[in-house]
Amino acid sequence: QPRLSQALQRIEVSRTNAATDRATALREQGRDIISLSVGEPDFATPPHVIQAAKDALDAGQTRYTPVTGTARLKEAAALHFRRDLGIETNPGQVIVCNGGKQAIFNALLATISAGEEAIVPVPWWVSYPQIIRFAGGKAVPLITHAGNNFRFDAADLEALITPSTQWLLLNSPGNPTGAVYPAEMLRAIGEVLRRHPQVMVLSDDIYAPLNYTGQPHATLAALCPDLADRICTVSGVSKSHAMTGFRIGVATGPQWLIDAMGRLQSNSTGNPCSISQAAAAAAFEGPQDFLQDWSARFRTRRDMVVQAINAVPGLSTPTPDGAFYCYIDATPLMDRFGDDEKLALHLLDHGVAIVAASAFGGRNGFRISFAADEAVLQEALARIAAALA
Ligand code: PLP
Repeated sequence: QPRLSQALQRIEVSRTNAATDRATALREQGRDIISLSVGEPDFATPPHVIQAAKDALDAGQTRYTPVTGTARLKEAAALHFRRDLGIETNPGQVIVCNGGKQAIFNALLATISAGEEAIVPVPWWVSYPQIIRFAGGKAVPLITHAGNNFRFDAADLEALITPSTQWLLLNSPGNPTGAVYPAEMLRAIGEVLRRHPQVMVLSDDIYAPLNYTGQPHATLAALCPDLADRICTVSGVSKSHAMTGFRIGVATGPQWLIDAMGRLQSNSTGNPCSISQAAAAAAFEGPQDFLQDWSARFRTRRDMVVQAINAVPGLSTPTPDGAFYCYIDATPLMDRFGDDEKLALHLLDHGVAIVAASAFGGRNGFRISFAADEAVLQEALARIAAALA
């Protein structure tokens, strides 16, 4: 008889991971499935990063490191926060975690007590509400719409703030919609936050280099340094440097919070993999110019996907400004399929794995990742069109 904790009973398996696992299982049975469900770049990890991992092994870096990361990686991550995000920080205010996911988990678990509220824009990344619920908090949905490219504005936010609001979760560029918040929208959000000093912000900038607006990446802690003592900014190498398997994420924020996150991590995973840390340091220290080429390729794919999707009767999507996801409305097809889970199964029957919008707190649609080779994307789009014809 399973004897699950109350905390665990409040959460489910990550539905993006579940959809990807389902596709992998079918493939292993020999089925021809194209998976557009997973959020990871298809590009090879850069050779200098691979070399750094090999060098670390050869140099015997196979032991425990400090729990919150090696001095070298903290230094490199602080450089990344300053150089790439414009956030003034130092290595002492940086923590290295097992992926951006653990950084977010640490920050929320270390701070949320029963009944406290975290405002989360919808559609949301699957793990945000789960982590909040696991901690005993309440995820308060802040509904966004396709008409505004899935961004909320300052007034929408202020209407949801209560004395129990502890966190606002901000994710730009965003998963699953590709929403990008320009500087002026963030400044307006900063104005609201100044009126509500109890609210902290978790700024998830893990997709920062994947921005197709032509504008530099904007982030709250850089734009509103007076608020920096209540902003935790999360970044990493998973999405930017095609290093999802290395499991390295980084965060910076007020000292008390970074210390609290380390206290939790010291009793759960301990340090992230020593070899991965050496690789991530090389990623932050090394050349960054290839990121622009990758971004340009993603942009080409995005344009191809948006055009093909909008040409399918019953499907529509705005053009995402960042990340590598397209969030698609399929409301006109719901009479035929019932709900988006059934639509997802239908598409899987036709050889394409996607993730239903309901996984992200949305409805009547689905998300595809365009982090796949152009030819693969073209085949997947043809299958989707055929499945819905
Ligand atoms: N934040 C967002 C919005 C993501 O989409 C993901 C990965 O899917 C993460 C964080 C976690 O990334 P990592 O693989 O570094 O744990």
